[in-house]
Amino acid sequence: MKYTVSLKENHIFRRLYRKGNTAADSRLAIYVRRNGRPGNRLGLTVSTKVGHAVVRNRLRRRLREIYRLHEHQLVRGVDLVVCPGCDLESSRQCVDLAERYNYIYAAVGLHPENLEGASLSDLDAIRTMAGHPKVRAIGEVGLDYYWVKAQEDRAFSRDFFDAQLSLAEELDLPVIVHDRDAHKDCLDIVRAHPNARGVFHCCALSAEDAKVVLNWGWMLSFTGNITFANAKRAPEVIRCAPIERIMLETDAPYMAPVPHRGERCDSSLIPITAATVAQLKGLTVEEVLSITMDNGKRFFNLT
Ligand SMILES: [Zn+2]
Repeated sequence: MKYTVSLKENHIFRRLYRKGNTAADSRLAIYVRRNGRPGNRLGLTVSTKVGHAVVRNRLRRRLREIYRLHEHQLVRGVDLVVCPGCDLESSRQCVDLAERYNYIYAAVGLHPENLEGASLSDLDAIRTMAGHPKVRAIGEVGLDYYWVKAQEDRAFSRDFFDAQLSLAEELDLPVIVHDRDAHKDCLDIVRAHPNARGVFHCCALSAEDAKVVLNWGWMLSFTGNITFANAKRAPEVIRCAPIERIMLETDAPYMAPVPHRGERCDSSLIPITAATVAQLKGLTVEEVLSITMDNGKRFFNLT
């Protein structure tokens, strides 16, 4: 893991000692990047009353602490990762990651928002990738009527969803379903595949629809958006659903739970989402984390 800090020391000193800065302390925003990707924003308070050498030493010490903390947060509680693709290229990348890291598993598939230029014959490549021993699901697949507006594009995405459910049945793999503003059509298409098994990810189903899906033996997966003040449906569904049928996910980089809403989501934030489930189900956070982990292992056939 390689960390870089976006603010250079000289820049920090310029900001700290800039003309007219009379504040005793200056709070600086430091962006820690990991492996070249944007990371968390971390604050640092340094005094303008002391000289450069003292500030530099404090800065270095603090940055070392930040690195350790950051590394710790990333690793803490993360045992296994299922990384889903959304087109051919990202599906390949997921398989590559799964090959490189023993704790990462892959899902492969074409997402409804990524069908431009796609053809049903692309599913031959998905079928081949799905033969890799670390591919444990077909996904993300489904329907997105929020982003896909044109009727012919929606019809095209229904064909893809239908074909990928058939592929999952053929390969006996579970399906990760993305359903945004398309509940009725999603349920109709899944209903036509009685041998398919899967999960409605980032579940936004009504309690009524959720019951239908649960009756098929499917799972429901929830993200940090269940912690948002305006979350109405998900809490109701979580109350009704058996805990053995619930999974938790990051949906990274989206859906970071409150109080990190809008930030980049990662697995270190899962316990916050679990706390909301714990409250709704009258369980402890540890129980929710342990049960949902077991559910995920069972569903994705992970060791
Ligand atoms: Zn999705």
